[in-house]
Amino acid sequence: MIKQAVIVAAGLGSRLKEKTVSKPKGFLELGGIAIVEWSVQKLFACGIEKIIIGTGYHAEAYDELAKKYPAVQTAFSADYETTSSMATLSVCAPYVSDDFLLLESDLIYDSIGLTVLCNDIHENVILASGATNSGDEVYLAAANGSLLEALSKNKAELTSVYGELVGISKISPAFLAAMCAYYEKKRAEFPKLDYEHAIMACASSHPVFIRKIEYYAWREIDDESHLEMARNEILPRIQENESLRQIRREVLLNPGPATTSDSVKYAQVCADICPREEEFGDVMKWVCRELTAVVADPSEYETVFFGGSGTAADEVMISSCVPEAGHVLIVDNGSYGQRLAKIASVYKINHTVYKSSAYEKIDMSVLENEFKTGKYTHLGIVYHETTTGLLNPLDVICPLAKKYNMVTIVDAVSIYAGMPMELSKLGIDFMASTSNKNIQGMAGVGFVICKKSELEKTKTIPMRNYYLNLYDQYAHFTKTGQTRFTPPVQTLYALRQAILETKQETVEKRWQRYTECWRILVDAVKKFNLKMLVKEEEQSHLITAIFDPDTPKYTFEGLHDLARQHGFTIYPGKLGNINTFRIANIGDIKPYEMKRFTEVLKSYLDSIGWK
Ligand SMILES: *Cc1c(COP(=O)(O)O)cnc(C)c1O
Repeated sequence: MIKQAVIVAAGLGSRLKEKTVSKPKGFLELGGIAIVEWSVQKLFACGIEKIIIGTGYHAEAYDELAKKYPAVQTAFSADYETTSSMATLSVCAPYVSDDFLLLESDLIYDSIGLTVLCNDIHENVILASGATNSGDEVYLAAANGSLLEALSKNKAELTSVYGELVGISKISPAFLAAMCAYYEKKRAEFPKLDYEHAIMACASSHPVFIRKIEYYAWREIDDESHLEMARNEILPRIQENESLRQIRREVLLNPGPATTSDSVKYAQVCADICPREEEFGDVMKWVCRELTAVVADPSEYETVFFGGSGTAADEVMISSCVPEAGHVLIVDNGSYGQRLAKIASVYKINHTVYKSSAYEKIDMSVLENEFKTGKYTHLGIVYHETTTGLLNPLDVICPLAKKYNMVTIVDAVSIYAGMPMELSKLGIDFMASTSNKNIQGMAGVGFVICKKSELEKTKTIPMRNYYLNLYDQYAHFTKTGQTRFTPPVQTLYALRQAILETKQETVEKRWQRYTECWRILVDAVKKFNLKMLVKEEEQSHLITAIFDPDTPKYTFEGLHDLARQHGFTIYPGKLGNINTFRIANIGDIKPYEMKRFTEVLKSYLDSIGWK
């Protein structure tokens, strides 16, 4: 799996004259966005987690870019004025630790080229296209099929032309080391050595393959005429090609599985791998660490995951964390609290159910009186009751439970990664969530984030089940880097991409986006004269339960079907005697999409004559 990229971007771009006086070539804009930013976004969507940009001329522009994209870091080539791309690559080399993609900064290209290189079986590969007639071609000659034999700007120097160099390659660390060593030897004589000549020079000791896409849409931009051609001809082609690969947009307004980005969907399409390979073990370790880091310090907390939905993670916690002599108090103020209690009863775990209203705040003094009885060793509670959109005040409840020496077990399935939170501050010992809600991945991974000191204490609890046992899964993974049983491989690749995208957006900004969508919904609901179940100020901003319009003409199916025709999926209510429907605004949804949904809602209400 390719996770790193280097963009060489130190050059002066002097052939573009006044266009590059105050900025480097990578910051030429096409379609309103800098070409290097196109490139960063494409690399990122392809699963690249670290992008090193080798800078020189107007390096500050790239340093600014790095602030916007945490995946980007820069490396400065001090003598950029007297050197060329190989010197820049040498400056980046110390930051490369794995196979990587090497790109030039002045390229626009169809993202399929990245996918093709990442999927190529060979270690060192350069991307080529058919004839471009750009006037600035570097021609490639091949031997034995596709092995790089020679390259030149002068066709006449080659026996035959196999393709044209695009400026995107895949390079192994060993090959990079050889290229850098070669440059060190030649530097005094040829300071302006280009990286492609170092590739050629080292190709005798490391085979380099050419991967050619005949009608590939790309352009290197070196002068005004290239820029014109890029704008008028190449960019439209790229955009058409990429739009053909877009997946039909369905906006899920149900509370999970949530809407995902195309890059998360595509992350599942990858080479088969046995999950016992170290390469996949590294992916799982990375995923666990990063899931923890969303809400806690990984030195203090640990993520343990299972193939299963969010309920599997709930079942793991309840069945694995309460010792035989323990007694768990379970707060039930909605169907998910009820579910925790149901799990406890199935396992015959000593528990007491504390009932509270499904749409009004928990009365803290009554709850504290229950804590005071001193009967309980554990507290089980749902952070965000998805039934109604009620957010329980865990910032008060859990610290209080800690005061009474209770271990806290929290179902945070529908709030984790949707709202900033810190487990140690909240006093949460065990927390369950899933891959398909606010983290915006695919369904299939349930996980528990555990305070390590509390997790260790569960070691002596006799196993009540086999597959879903927390300590066994943890101990095995820690010892071997593997799960006990087959993990959902492709779902984990998608989860990896979803985590990268969460880190790029940040949970803080995600919470703001969710809140913005919720605001649009709530304002419309009030304008349409509909009523909400939970008081506005007590709502989570993630899901809204709305009373059915009080007219016999309303049916959930009618609203659902109209919404579905417009690409929106909505969800029925879940409270037995109160008639509501629910709108969740979690997942990869945009405020303009919520706006469109409110228009669909309005047209439905008009159709049933609702005023
Ligand atoms: C979604 C959800 C779950 C898990 O449901 P699954 O269908 O098992 O994924 C558990 N608790 C809460 C609060 C939820 O919102």
